[in-house]
Amino acid sequence: MKAHFTVDMEGMAGIAHENQADVKGLDFPRMRELLTNEVQAAIEGAKAGGAKEIVICDAHDTGRNLILEKLDEDVIVIEGSAYEQGMMAGISDDFDAAFQIGYHSMRDTHAGTIGHTYTYTVAELRLNGVKVGETGLSAAIAGHYGVPVVFVSGDLHAVRQAESLIPDIVGVPTKEGVGVYGIKSLMPKRACELIRKGAEEAMKKAGTAKPYVVERPVKMEAMFTRTIMAQYASQMPLVERTGDKSVAYEAKDMVDAFSVFEALTMIAHSAGEEGEL
Ligand SMILES: [Zn+2]
Repeated sequence: MKAHFTVDMEGMAGIAHENQADVKGLDFPRMRELLTNEVQAAIEGAKAGGAKEIVICDAHDTGRNLILEKLDEDVIVIEGSAYEQGMMAGISDDFDAAFQIGYHSMRDTHAGTIGHTYTYTVAELRLNGVKVGETGLSAAIAGHYGVPVVFVSGDLHAVRQAESLIPDIVGVPTKEGVGVYGIKSLMPKRACELIRKGAEEAMKKAGTAKPYVVERPVKMEAMFTRTIMAQYASQMPLVERTGDKSVAYEAKDMVDAFSVFEALTMIAHSAGEEGEL
């Protein structure tokens, strides 16, 4: 059995502000260590549940967060900025199960701590009309390859959002948002114990779990946080302006939808640098 892990940071136990997940932040050295512990706990759980091969995508920000020498020596880690599939780099139809660790809620979630959707330029993302955050987006990419997401750990709101799309998923909340920058958190050791147990249970479900498949063609709609972002983004061929801050694109499948989404977020980012508006 082969498992793919995608690892984000804002949803892990103990983080209340994006500064703590920033490589230049004072707390970053501590937080990357705690994140590494959560991932190691998930490795141990997945192995106990039957995983023989594990590929881990270090998916937060620079992709250089995990302390590799603290992980089991028989896993493979994708570090840095991969050029395909973003937070799901490395996924293929070879895998039996996908895991999401340290995941956070989508943007504009009430009390969803540090909730955002891929970047801080995106206000809302829809796939065939269904609003998704990073849990849904990563699940849809795994689903393209027929791989079911069996496990999510992170902010309680992220876990709930994943459960609303994938009812059978094993969800391990590590903290509860009590504000956009407020948390009620488990202690790191307790979070790791629960992640270990949950990952074992989840891996055992790999044979029967169903992938989250978005039907083709995929209508991808992105709403940005500012008008100028939609203005720039709609200059891409085949991308249609659908509102003051929104654009849409009809993709042939999820891989196509994701590549265009990622390009749109880069365009939106540079649009945002033009001025205050
Ligand atoms: Zn994220």
